[in-house]
Amino acid sequence: MRLSHYFLPILKETPREAEIVSHRLMLRAGMIKQQAAGIFSFLPLGKKVLDKVCDIIREEQDRAGAIEILMPTVQPADLWQESGRYNAYGPEMLRIRDRHDRDMLYGPTNEEMVTDIFRTYVRSYKDLPLNLYHLQWKFRDEVRPRFGVMRGREFLMKDAYSFDLDYESAKIAYYRMFVAYLRTFQRCGLTAIPMRADTGPIGGDLSHEFIVLAETGESEVFCDRAFLEYDTPGADTDFSDAEALSDLVAKWTTPYAATDEMHDEQAWGALSDDTRISARGIEVGHIFHFGTKYSEPMGAKVTGPAGAQVPVSMGSYGIGPTRLLGAIIEASHDEAGIIWPQSVAPFDVSIISMKVGDDLCDDAAEKLYRAAKEGGLDPLLDDTDARAGAKFATHELIGIPVQIVAGPRGLAEGKVELRARASGEKRELSLDEALNMLT
Ligand code: ATP
Ligand code: MG
Ligand code: MG
Ligand code: MG
Repeated sequence: MRLSHYFLPILKETPREAEIVSHRLMLRAGMIKQQAAGIFSFLPLGKKVLDKVCDIIREEQDRAGAIEILMPTVQPADLWQESGRYNAYGPEMLRIRDRHDRDMLYGPTNEEMVTDIFRTYVRSYKDLPLNLYHLQWKFRDEVRPRFGVMRGREFLMKDAYSFDLDYESAKIAYYRMFVAYLRTFQRCGLTAIPMRADTGPIGGDLSHEFIVLAETGESEVFCDRAFLEYDTPGADTDFSDAEALSDLVAKWTTPYAATDEMHDEQAWGALSDDTRISARGIEVGHIFHFGTKYSEPMGAKVTGPAGAQVPVSMGSYGIGPTRLLGAIIEASHDEAGIIWPQSVAPFDVSIISMKVGDDLCDDAAEKLYRAAKEGGLDPLLDDTDARAGAKFATHELIGIPVQIVAGPRGLAEGKVELRARASGEKRELSLDEALNMLT
């Protein structure tokens, strides 16, 4: 992409409405524009990062055996009346009436709808296990939308729903998502710790929130430092090996980790001071086994091996990709701006021409740009006539992992400068070396 042809509305001033750094940086870097409280447009740079995050989520859901579908945002109220949640959900639900006076709603989540899909088509235990997921916008009329995309009213969610014959197999479905989540967050450059979460009237211990530690997090959390040393399960994890999955989950649920609702002062007190982390955290994902809560009232049953009709055992698994953007920036930024982890960076490399119109600069920048494209990279070429200082500030702000600076002075000696955004390291190299590095 040539910056002169791009749409990157950088803000020079720090927006006053933004209370936390990720919100400030997303506005300043021209990633989002607020359209109403908690409702945002994603501008090109924001859209690119969001797509990258969604791609990682998809890859890991697919790897774990989940199957992608797409359910609508608008749902009929009838389904929610069947499950008994229509009235119970309260003012967080955006209720809509269509021209025929039918009650509709903008989905805050999709348990009812996916259960309806299941009951329409699936009849036998032989078709199980099944896990269906989608990436779709949700609406929750939050009392206090704030922190930009971190707590929006309209936000993107990846929600998956598993269907199994009994608790034992539902537990394995839960483990698959548990491991997929560890991998997903790690690939987004985050350390997310699975913490025991409230299961409410369902009971049991199959509910975990995945929490990224951050001062600006809204949850109060308590965990063992051991998690910070853990290696994330590899891409070669065998998701059909129930025992291996169970061992992984056992490992990741052994050290203490709980949100304030589940905090156990006694267990906490037994830990040594230097292993305790008492901090704030951002809930980036949540997995939950709820058994027959929806399958029972909605009649989602299959014929079991002995011929009896059995309501299926279900779980749901959510990740907030839009919230993740905020969480990634909270975890990775400095004074000058965002520092994108390579895996989600909107561009792979910034190529900065310091003097547009100068033959040496134009020629070198163009060559570097082409080489990067040929090398399969996604480069951003700064071919604008902004001043040097402004250019550097822009590229620091938008946080592309690598910058290559082509200036007239260096090029007179055949040299360009390479800058690593994360470390700040700078080094000179010859134009040829740079071209070779890119292709
Ligand atoms: P919170 O405790 O922050 O209100 P939640 O527990 O209500 O979140 P879930 O119903 O568990 O959220 O939804 C799954 C995921 O969707 C969350 O883990 C989070 O990543 C994301 N999410 C939930 N609410 C919002 C929101 N208002 N804005 C952005 N993302 C959200
Ligand atoms: Mg909530
Ligand atoms: Mg929550
Ligand atoms: Mg939750």
